[in-house]
Amino acid sequence: MLEVFENKKAVVLLSGGLDSSTLAYYVKNMGYDLYPISFDYGQKSRRELDASIKIGRSLGVKDHKFIKIDLKSIGGSALTSDIDVPKTGDLDNKRQEISDKKDIPITYVPARNTIFLSIALAYAEVIDADVIFYGANCIDYSGYPDCRPEFIDAFNNLAKWGTKKGVEGKTIEIEAPFLFYTKKDIVKTALDLGVPIEETWSCYDDGDEPCGRCDSCIIRQKAIDEVNAEIRNEKKNR
Ligand SMILES: [Zn+2]
Repeated sequence: MLEVFENKKAVVLLSGGLDSSTLAYYVKNMGYDLYPISFDYGQKSRRELDASIKIGRSLGVKDHKFIKIDLKSIGGSALTSDIDVPKTGDLDNKRQEISDKKDIPITYVPARNTIFLSIALAYAEVIDADVIFYGANCIDYSGYPDCRPEFIDAFNNLAKWGTKKGVEGKTIEIEAPFLFYTKKDIVKTALDLGVPIEETWSCYDDGDEPCGRCDSCIIRQKAIDEVNAEIRNEKKNR
């Protein structure tokens, strides 16, 4: 444990997915006092919220904040409206297509991270936390504009100018340590930190089981399979 962060408060955006759950473990491992915040924003995937509760409990957090926001009434995303969640299949081709055309996937929720981070910022100010962690990742296919380094820089600037804490010369830093991690890196980190991966929920859809065919399911499973194969190989070569 890094003593430098001990007893320091950190707000962590915890969706219940693999990335944010691993992030919460990662931040706890740094020695921070965790203050997870989860959002019921009208997402299709209700299982995600259940997962966030389970992960919060497994981390033994004292205070897990739940906030309700009705993004469903705005819609504009496959995650919050009647638009079907795309079931891709050929993700490698699609990923190339997206990076060529600079298309934003229909699973992008308009301004979601701006909204979430704004509320997290308010919360951080009230509980006097100096840092907000969120699990943005710009490597393994997202194409989401609010998961890019430019966005984080801009938000850090906003936090500096738009808060009482900022005016008083203190800062609330927004940090995304997994920004340049591949999904495989995240799976490996999760295994190292003992994250109960099976309790996390990455599927964009709801249901008793993950659909296995949406982009999020496919990317997650591919990374888990690759890491498992590597572990098997290492054992064989020992
Ligand atoms: Zn799925």
